[in-house]
Amino acid sequence: MSSRSNLLNDRTAEHYRRSLAHGVERVAAKIAATDRPFTGITPAELAPSISAIDLDQPLETPQAALDELESVYLRDAVYFHHPRYLAHLNCPVVIPAVLGEAVLSAVNSSLDTWDQSAGATLIERRLIQWTADRIGFGRAADGIFTSGGTQSNLQALLLARDETCRLVREAAGVTGAAGIAEDAKAELSTARILPKLRILTSECSHFSIEKAATLLGLGAEAVLPVPCGEDRRMRPAALAEQLARCEREGEVVMAVVATAGTTDFGSIDPLPEIAGLCEAAGVWMHVDAAYGCGLLVSRRRSLLEGIDRADSVTVDYHKSFFQPVSSSAVLVRDRDTLRHVTYHADYLNPARAAERAIPNQVDKSIQTTRRFDALKLWMTLRVMGADGIGELFDEVIDRAADAWKLLEADERFEVVTEPQLSTLVFRYLPALPDDETGAALTDQANLHAREALFASGDAIVAGTVVEGRHYLKFTLLNPETTLDDIAAVLELIAGHAEQHLSAHSPLSTAQAC
Ligand SMILES: *Cc1c(COP(=O)(O)O)cnc(C)c1O
Repeated sequence: MSSRSNLLNDRTAEHYRRSLAHGVERVAAKIAATDRPFTGITPAELAPSISAIDLDQPLETPQAALDELESVYLRDAVYFHHPRYLAHLNCPVVIPAVLGEAVLSAVNSSLDTWDQSAGATLIERRLIQWTADRIGFGRAADGIFTSGGTQSNLQALLLARDETCRLVREAAGVTGAAGIAEDAKAELSTARILPKLRILTSECSHFSIEKAATLLGLGAEAVLPVPCGEDRRMRPAALAEQLARCEREGEVVMAVVATAGTTDFGSIDPLPEIAGLCEAAGVWMHVDAAYGCGLLVSRRRSLLEGIDRADSVTVDYHKSFFQPVSSSAVLVRDRDTLRHVTYHADYLNPARAAERAIPNQVDKSIQTTRRFDALKLWMTLRVMGADGIGELFDEVIDRAADAWKLLEADERFEVVTEPQLSTLVFRYLPALPDDETGAALTDQANLHAREALFASGDAIVAGTVVEGRHYLKFTLLNPETTLDDIAAVLELIAGHAEQHLSAHSPLSTAQAC
């Protein structure tokens, strides 16, 4: 076959149709036959077969490439649709979104300018407006789709930084170049302001906040952790204290980041209290709802009360809207703040295009060429509707509440907090002496249980550290996961932990002697 027969165009539509049908058939068969979330393969086992492939020797046909893919990817992939995948914030995906994905990559619109995307630009804008309405933002709201929560948080903090710098200059009477002594201007240059900037966020917030601070030229030290209560929610009194201290010591708080759904605990910071403190201090409030955004369409919408008072919000549709990666957005209450990422290029989005009101999404994004990820959410809403998504999310939250009761009633386990969303942090807690040896052994038993479970492929759970000790974590995002699945996985964990303890406990060694 000639290379040109692989270009998708009017003459190859039939080739396209058959190729995709093969691929879809392959994946469908795989998904129908998956009996575990994972095969347990190790990198060392898998790497040689991938290294051995000669990338300069093509296989020519899609079937042959799919056959090969079976052994290097499909056979051993981690399958999030399996009810015993309980590890990270990865959701099973809804079929209308997968359909959208196939359409968007074939048409391949690029959402930077109208002349590369036409209708796609308007569809994305409609979805941003829809999300903003769900948040409760007014008519001045806007936003943009991004690659994920990390990028959404980065962009929100970039806007917060530049707005704060502008306000600092304005407060000092420096509004433009005219009439300002050179040394005064220098004093208020961005480079002078940056070292004073601080970001306040709870100690349970996502590490992408620190990454963003580094990328924004502040350094990770600019992020000051605000203590949480037992429930892993930011303590407003602690935030108030930190705001007052910054004020006293001449540090400029450029943003308070509240988390609506922490990655480990699913805890939602007290948004109304935080909003009140931000408004009083004149500080930008960002809400990281990467995980909790599904509440926007759930019967638990009230858990997000106060989110409409934020200046910016991160939502990850690829977490709680059952969308394929990537699908995320950053929303702002005041669209004017997006001007901090607006640059004009003569070849792409000249200022005269803006004057003619031609919609150019690149003016609002930190990306240039950008996927039409919005189409997946569009297809989802058009087929299932928002309530359909909300029902799925509500179901996993209900399941987490039941699983919490199960764990609470089981003496072998300790669970950290009652979930607000769908995560559970717990550990196997054997009856061991209450000393450092006992604690270390408990840590090892839990670490071992997680690894052994992963190696078996029977189920996948996550792990985290709480107050220096190793815990396990369930992140429930699959409505197909039953309470029986959860009970069965707990038995597997207990079994692996016990096995480790009987091999390593000083007590059992003594008995064996
Ligand atoms: C997952 C997550 C992020 C990062 O989002 P990505 O889409 O993985 O980049 C940020 N914040 C919170 C609270 C998250 O759970």
